Amino acid sequence: MNKIAVVGAGISGLSIASYLEKHQLDYHIYERRKKDDLTGHGFLLPKEGIEYLSQIVDQSLLYKQGNFLKKYIRYSHQGKILAEKELHDVFVISRSSLIDILARNIPAEKITYEETVIPCTLQKGKLKKHDGTYLDSDLAIVSDGSKSRIRRETFQDEVMRTVQEYEIVNIIKCKEIAACLEDNFMKYHHEDGGLTFGILKLSEDTVLWYAQFDHEKYKISEASTVENLKSYMFEIFNDWDPMVSSIVKGSNYENVHLWRVYELEKLNPFFNDNIVFIGDAAHPLIPFTSQGVTSALKDSFTLTQCLITEENRVDAFRKYEAERKPEIEIHIRNGRTLLNEFLKPLHQQTENILPISYK
Ligand SMILES: Cc1cc2nc3c(=O)[nH]c(=O)nc-3n(C[C@H](O)[C@H](O)[C@H](O)COP(=O)(O)OP(=O)(O)OC[C@H]3O[C@@H](n4cnc5c(N)ncnc54)[C@H](O)[C@@H]3O)c2cc1C
Repeated sequence: MNKIAVVGAGISGLSIASYLEKHQLDYHIYERRKKDDLTGHGFLLPKEGIEYLSQIVDQSLLYKQGNFLKKYIRYSHQGKILAEKELHDVFVISRSSLIDILARNIPAEKITYEETVIPCTLQKGKLKKHDGTYLDSDLAIVSDGSKSRIRRETFQDEVMRTVQEYEIVNIIKCKEIAACLEDNFMKYHHEDGGLTFGILKLSEDTVLWYAQFDHEKYKISEASTVENLKSYMFEIFNDWDPMVSSIVKGSNYENVHLWRVYELEKLNPFFNDNIVFIGDAAHPLIPFTSQGVTSALKDSFTLTQCLITEENRVDAFRKYEAERKPEIEIHIRNGRTLLNEFLKPLHQQTENILPISYK
């Protein structure tokens, strides 16, 4: 096998590098951010995600850094319990912890931080470093996220659009709230639809909360400064159940972030020439599915298997796409169903729906 360049050290880039390392394949990762810049929030992972992660990371370390959720409780925005569901093997972990655990698999000399890789407009299939030199590789695995610049340059007719749902996410330190959440995943829903507030315990002293909102109905200013997000949250959630309004008012906002959610109108091929796409770069999935990370892990596993077993690159890429695309299409459909449910008034929504897409 020839030399492989991996672009992006998010979940998909680090997980495929872990598999390449395991199989002693020659690779190098290029990552735009600084090594210690581990921003981001948290992920819900279904059982399958844990199983794939367990192939490449130390399970006891993983379990120490996250939390298994036992019960999903669905509330109205005034605090009335609408439904409850036992959860089996649903795990929550912060993005920074997961990136940190995955990065431990990669020898320091095989990863370059603060290196933005860009497509070469003049020579198709070639990728450049910021100093203008070409990447030293025979094939490139591109894992640079949902707004992948390399994918947009490769498939110039793709249509990317915003989803009618944005999210404001925050991570706060608070032992008291973490203790009172126990291992429950609590989610509050406005009766008119299009507005929810979810709370999860990441660890004994850390809590993740998020608001999902229909941005056509609950308009937000374009400037997503901390002050703007804070006053938006205060205004929108002021009269909700005290559990929600007190968290919103009592939170520290230094980690708050607004996620604008995007999707592709139609999936592109997962490869072109000597470039293959994995994770969000191949297929942005809306957060409602809770399948972004698991899908990235499965892409990494499948592509590595195909690279090992197939005789040539094209067969490997074809087999990878044939195995992964049908499942991704199911998650895209499920994501749209979950989005439509979310936009409806509460009394029209399916009662016991879990905010996760299953195949
Ligand atoms: C609000 C929100 C909530 C979510 N909740 C969940 C959830 O509960 N469960 C779940 O499974 N998924 C969830 N997801 C989806 C999940 O975050 C993604 O599917 C997952 O992070 C994809 O990982 P990735 O490695 O493909 O992309 P990313 O995590 O985006 O990583 C891309 C990496 O590439 C780097 N990069 C970008 N451009 C370049 C370049 N030109 N050169 C070099 N490096 C570059 C970036 O710095 C980054 O490190 C959520 C997403 C959002 C927005």
